[in-house]
Amino acid sequence: MTAGNPGADLPVTSLRGVGPSLKTTLERIGIFRTTDLLLHLPTRYQDRSHVTNLGQIEADQECLVRGRVVTTKVSFGRKRSLLVTIEDGSGYLGLRFFHFSRRQQAGLQTGTQVQAFGEIRFGPSGFEMIHPDYRAFDSDPPTLEAGLTPIYPTTKGLGQNRLRSLTAQLEKLPWSTDHGTPYADLLLLHKPSAEMTATEIASVQERLAKDELTAYYLIMRGRQLERQRQATTALPRAQQLGRQLLNNLGFQLTGAQRRVVREVLEDLETKQPMLRLVQGDVGSGKTVVAAFAAIRAAEHFTQTAIMAPTEILAEQHYVNFSRWLSPLGISVVLLTGSQPAKERRQVTTQISSGEALVAVGTHALFQQHVSFAKLALTIIDEQHRFGVHQRMALRNKGLVPHQLVMTATPIPRTLTMALYADMAVSLIDELPRGRQAIDTRVVADSRRAEVVSRLRDSLAKGGQAYWVCPLIEKSDHLDLADAESTATAIAEALPEHRVGLLHGRMSSAKKADVMQSFSAGELDVLVATTVIEVGVDVANANLMIIENPERMGLTQLHQLRGRVGRGDTRASCILLYKSPLGANAKARLQVIRDSQDGFYIAEQDLNLRGGGELLGTRQTGEQSFRLADLRKHAHLIPEAVARGDELLRSAPQSVQALLDAWAPADTGHISV
Ligand code: ADP
Ligand code: MG
Repeated sequence: MTAGNPGADLPVTSLRGVGPSLKTTLERIGIFRTTDLLLHLPTRYQDRSHVTNLGQIEADQECLVRGRVVTTKVSFGRKRSLLVTIEDGSGYLGLRFFHFSRRQQAGLQTGTQVQAFGEIRFGPSGFEMIHPDYRAFDSDPPTLEAGLTPIYPTTKGLGQNRLRSLTAQLEKLPWSTDHGTPYADLLLLHKPSAEMTATEIASVQERLAKDELTAYYLIMRGRQLERQRQATTALPRAQQLGRQLLNNLGFQLTGAQRRVVREVLEDLETKQPMLRLVQGDVGSGKTVVAAFAAIRAAEHFTQTAIMAPTEILAEQHYVNFSRWLSPLGISVVLLTGSQPAKERRQVTTQISSGEALVAVGTHALFQQHVSFAKLALTIIDEQHRFGVHQRMALRNKGLVPHQLVMTATPIPRTLTMALYADMAVSLIDELPRGRQAIDTRVVADSRRAEVVSRLRDSLAKGGQAYWVCPLIEKSDHLDLADAESTATAIAEALPEHRVGLLHGRMSSAKKADVMQSFSAGELDVLVATTVIEVGVDVANANLMIIENPERMGLTQLHQLRGRVGRGDTRASCILLYKSPLGANAKARLQVIRDSQDGFYIAEQDLNLRGGGELLGTRQTGEQSFRLADLRKHAHLIPEAVARGDELLRSAPQSVQALLDAWAPADTGHISV
């Protein structure tokens, strides 16, 4: 990222005071060059610019105070502590230390003048600061800071003062001021001017966040334009195999499925490689939509690769695709990492000879030694673990195939606008008819016995059930339910029923075996970890109990719950939480209880805890924002997008300047 700021982008070692050891420390937090340091922004600010009178302090306020020590005593409460009381003529304040040295104690004798900075708490004997940042002084008080003091994210061995002395040096570098580059604003965040208030800082942050979101949008658009310049196999309408599948399906496609199939097939008709994201809630029927795309490719004797995130899901897709496509004369194969080597060799040969037109698999499908004879389409079923890495890996395989990505992650529309601006988006916003609402209850774990008897009743009526736990085995550190001991407990409580166990550490063969038994009705209860969240389809399962739902993400809960309610009988879900429940956790569980709409749930999730979970893969997998925080800044996206479009139209030189300023290291240099 040098183009926009020649001369200012230097190795950190060019700053005063950065030797080999500090260099290593800085590298630990991603700071290699001065531009990295410029973008290493404070997470918050402290106001040490004025002294607050002790008569005016309030609880929870962070402030700088001065006073004279009136008493110093060691108290032996629940924990030994040193309590130093100061007064300034307007009021009193206690400074409390749980760790203190004899020397510290001696330095805080009655009569000493002290300046202290910290957060005010309301303690047993009035207002207190716990472990304040303090300094004793004689006659002249320390000078006050001119403006707000930045607080940086840091690492061991790197103090705030050191960071501040480094960022202070940035000001002297020759940053560009062209084309509305953000350097002046960035410097301002490192060293706010004396009069700047917290509100003014927030508005600078907002301005920069919008800038960064615009840059992100432009990067995505750049990728899209780049792709449009490439060519791949056009797959126009050919035979009528799709119609045959439609006749064989045994159900009618929903209106939304028909619309999305049309959108996908239209994309395939051109030479421009498709990159389309199909978003559809759990159970909305994404798989069959993908099947129509694979059929179109097969009609041209070109191949489709379908990648699933887990073996269970790959096997399930294999079953479905075989059932749908084999009668049309299209051969389908399965490739997973756990197949015996001989079988795998056989399958890879079928793929490389072109004999297999559809290959379903896990990551194994995209390893170097699997080469396709004529790959025209890749379908990635990411369920809600929506990541971008795999997408990239597939694109790198020679000819760019058409790509279809399916996700059950309900991504709020504002976010898709910018974050997925490189993709076309289709929405399956309708569930197949006859799907019933899942009766969802939020129940405290003190009522576990009732839940077990509810389970017994449900099984007695012929249903099956899932019991989901966050852990595989008991943990000494986490007070969470584990699948192993839960399975034992349930088997003991319900001796007349067959209880199975499924978790991620079992071998794939064993997992498949257990799933098979559960599907076949040979098991009544499946105690599982969240591995079942992806794609298990057992229509007779109509009750799900989820332990520690308060510790799971709303989207994850929604996905899990989607595993029941796939049959004709009314399904229920019990969220068995560990009490007591905090206000936020309660609000979150109520969202799940009251709604089955994945999009609504995702939006609430964003409101109640931010986009972290939702965008986790996107952010950690590909890049994270330097400054934009989707919890605070999602509302800026429409404006950022509009501005990006405007810049593309009328100010290409600003586009480049913006990309140079914000281009994250791993996105590389992208020219538009
Ligand atoms: P998801 O979108 O969660 O991947 P699936 O594709 O697994 O959903 O579909 C869930 C179930 O619904 C499957 O058993 C599938 O065959 C069935 N299904 C899909 N579309 C319809 C439809 N239009 N009518 C009835 N059942 C459907
Ligand atoms: Mg699916």
